[in-house]
Amino acid sequence: MPSPVGVALLGATGSIGKSALKVLERQRDRFVPVAMTANGNAAALAEQVAQFGPAYVGLVQGSVEAPSGWGRGPECLVEAATHPDASIVINAVVGAAGLPATLAALRQGKRVALANKETLVVAGDIVTRTAREHGAELVPVDSEHSAILQCLAGRQPHEVKRLILTASGGPFRTWPAERIAQATRADALKHPTWQMGSKITIDSATLANKALEVIEAHHLFGVPYDRIEVVVHPQSIIHSFVEFVDGSVLAQMGVPSMELPILYALTWPERVADTGVPSFDPVALGGLTFEHVRHEQFPMLGLGISAGRAGGAAPAVFNAANEEAVAQFLAGALSFGGIAERVAEALQDLAGAPGDSLETLLAADAAARDHVKSRIAQEA
Ligand code: NDP
Ligand code: MG
Repeated sequence: MPSPVGVALLGATGSIGKSALKVLERQRDRFVPVAMTANGNAAALAEQVAQFGPAYVGLVQGSVEAPSGWGRGPECLVEAATHPDASIVINAVVGAAGLPATLAALRQGKRVALANKETLVVAGDIVTRTAREHGAELVPVDSEHSAILQCLAGRQPHEVKRLILTASGGPFRTWPAERIAQATRADALKHPTWQMGSKITIDSATLANKALEVIEAHHLFGVPYDRIEVVVHPQSIIHSFVEFVDGSVLAQMGVPSMELPILYALTWPERVADTGVPSFDPVALGGLTFEHVRHEQFPMLGLGISAGRAGGAAPAVFNAANEEAVAQFLAGALSFGGIAERVAEALQDLAGAPGDSLETLLAADAAARDHVKSRIAQEA
């Protein structure tokens, strides 16, 4: 067997990061972690480093104490992503903070296994153009997009009629609007089918996550927005569908474990044997059900898709306003219903800003965060 492929893992201490390390550990004949980063969790990172021994370690938060050999500050993400021993970069950072590292890795022609969907929402055109120009591969880790990639399996764009993304519906799938508006942090963090980091768990409760995923799918697969749909599927067993022009529909199924799409993003287009995922038992599944999205109760989905359709700075504003609103909700400074209100206001005021370059997109991102912060401060 050839020597293992070097992998840089950004966001090693998070939910995706830890799942990725389980996969890398099982697949150690094929892959080896050569660079690892975290934001501020130095203790957890140090434990992982002791186990995996990567050549490069980086911690973003400069104020946190860390061993002297570690890279420090936000630049450490780019240093890890461009490490000469890494051919694949798993970007499992949460939020727009992951964008510069994705771009840096693509510019060097590396494969980016992308969990950090915010990268594509903020700057999808720039990211996909960079990948094309440098012959780099952008392979999704997000389970819906991994499912679509598996269903497409080399089909031509003109053969595809529709992408149908599944959504679990989150913890408030059946709740009335008034109750959702008052939902607590504990209610919102109780996801019915997936164990994930807190930001994406809140995004799954508002359905903002599915809006981010529609935009992500648009950029990854080049499919126009009017041919991307969302259906609620509470069991999270079918990870998405592709409908072809002849009426045939393919779905990808599997137990809800991110280890499956992480491994596929590493080995695509090949499949390799893996012992870590429980085997599939159709009888044990019981029924698989599907429902329409209740748009009135979950306004974040429509807001995000409209921002995607509008293009320019609008998706970056949607994403940044949402990141800030979710952080404020988690900190107890904003109600659950307030998330969509603050994001709608930010879009109203800022969506028309220029968004034709990385600089203007990052300016729109910063303005949206400030907008949400100042509205919340005014109300306090
Ligand atoms: P977590 O919050 O669990 O982990 C985030 C990771 O990124 C941690 O390692 C954290 O470090 C680090 N991090 C946080 N903020 C920053 C920052 N500003 N700069 C650099 N690093 C940072 O998130 P998840 O693993 O759940 O999600 C990661 C990404 O994957 C998100 O984009 C999410 O949408 C996407 N995703 C997640 C899924 C899941 O099942 N969890 C499924 C599909 C997509 P530290 O521990 O030090 O704070
Ligand atoms: Mg997903």
